Amino acid sequence: MSDSTPVNSYYRATATAYDPFAALRGRHDVDTLIVGGGFAGLNTAIGLAERGQQGVMLLEAGELGHGASGRNGGFAFGGYSLGEAALRRSQGPEKAKRMYDGTLWGVDSIRRRAAQYAIPCDPVEGGVIWANWFRDPEVLRARQRELADHYDVDWRWMPQVELRQRIHSERYSDALYESSALHIHPLNYAIGLGRAAAAQGVQVHERSPVTGLQRDGSGWRVSTAEAEVRAQRVVLACGGYLGGFAPRLDRSILPISTYVMVTEPLGSRMTDIMDINAAVYDTRFAFDYYRPLKDGRLLWGGRITVRDPSPGQAKDILMTDLLRVFPQLRDVGIDYAWSGLMGYSRAQMPQIGELEPGLWMVHAFGGHGVAPTAWGGELIASAIAEGDTRWKDFAGYQPDSAFKPFGFAAAQLSYWWLQTRDACKDWREGRR
Ligand SMILES: Cc1cc2nc3c(=O)[nH]c(=O)nc-3n(C[C@H](O)[C@H](O)[C@H](O)COP(=O)(O)OP(=O)(O)OC[C@H]3O[C@@H](n4cnc5c(N)ncnc54)[C@H](O)[C@@H]3O)c2cc1C
Repeated sequence: MSDSTPVNSYYRATATAYDPFAALRGRHDVDTLIVGGGFAGLNTAIGLAERGQQGVMLLEAGELGHGASGRNGGFAFGGYSLGEAALRRSQGPEKAKRMYDGTLWGVDSIRRRAAQYAIPCDPVEGGVIWANWFRDPEVLRARQRELADHYDVDWRWMPQVELRQRIHSERYSDALYESSALHIHPLNYAIGLGRAAAAQGVQVHERSPVTGLQRDGSGWRVSTAEAEVRAQRVVLACGGYLGGFAPRLDRSILPISTYVMVTEPLGSRMTDIMDINAAVYDTRFAFDYYRPLKDGRLLWGGRITVRDPSPGQAKDILMTDLLRVFPQLRDVGIDYAWSGLMGYSRAQMPQIGELEPGLWMVHAFGGHGVAPTAWGGELIASAIAEGDTRWKDFAGYQPDSAFKPFGFAAAQLSYWWLQTRDACKDWREGRR
């Protein structure tokens, strides 16, 4: 079991206050038990509640949004960790488009539910910029063509002159702009979803780590340290924080760490670095990602490693990255730094569906999960409530082994290799 101590993040410091949901005690019978209070579990819960399903319980090991969902960059945009061209090659054009469209549904669902449930998650309709770190524009052109030709999606070309007016850095050449994307305070969105689900009858319990899962007739028996639940069906939504109790899923996931920091309020210095309310990431494999926050701070994230760093280490590493892009922030103060785990499958695609009768999974969203988890939860909820079979689009992504611990070593080696490849490209283009 991963550590469920709350992380000291900007998001926690600015989280919506709410009466904590009590830990579960005693014996219970439910229809559907969801394990995991991140976006995947919460979207499943709200999807079931909105369909009038009774007897739904959600158990979270820490607090709502304890995992990646309460720590991430807050980019709500289309697509998956696996790129669009690779998705089309592996699934064929029609299915790939349906799967991609699901993530756009996810983006819209965030907008809709934030408004419907009055969730104070600071949605910013500023779009997302994919900035080219390198000079060769072909990487942008190829992705723009792929999206237009096969997904019917238009990412606008942003030439260097315009980009430099918006983002005051000489690092980038040009960019693509996904104008329909938004960015949010993800922890407050998680808390809001949890409260909305509870208001519609879902039994939500925090600080209730599941330690055991056993078949019990046609259903399941699930245990925590202080409780036992009999459930007709169980939905596992534990992201990169799953630890031990479902070995087949556990073996298939590599928890990978990425880091975030938040500056002190920048005041007028914000206009020294950017003049647009967009969220930004770049074209390298291990890209930087950043966005302005509503109180004038800059949130900055990046890096991927198999080891979780301390907040101090994360801050030092990210500061080096920040100054490569915005040297004008040399003396800026950093008020928060943290890291989080992303659950990756070998295919870099989520695993969504029924693993065996009455046992559902919705996890492995990797580093691109804010919108896809909404779609994943929707598919599971509509399958349980209405017998919808659209989740079968994901049937090609099963929990095969990630070959831990060798998978960690292989993942780290391949990250180093891809980062080195980007560094060589930098060097060839005459930059350090
Ligand atoms: C730092 C960071 C930045 C990111 N930035 C972005 C971004 O900007 N945009 C984007 O699209 N994606 C981003 N991602 C990825 C995205 O956050 C994830 O893909 C998504 O949040 C995964 O949601 P989840 O519900 O599957 O997992 P999680 O949010 O990790 O939730 C799983 C939950 O299950 C709970 N749990 C685990 N085991 C048990 C148990 N035994 N009993 C009870 N509960 C349990 C955990 O405590 C946890 O709360 C980022 C990820 C990180 C870490």
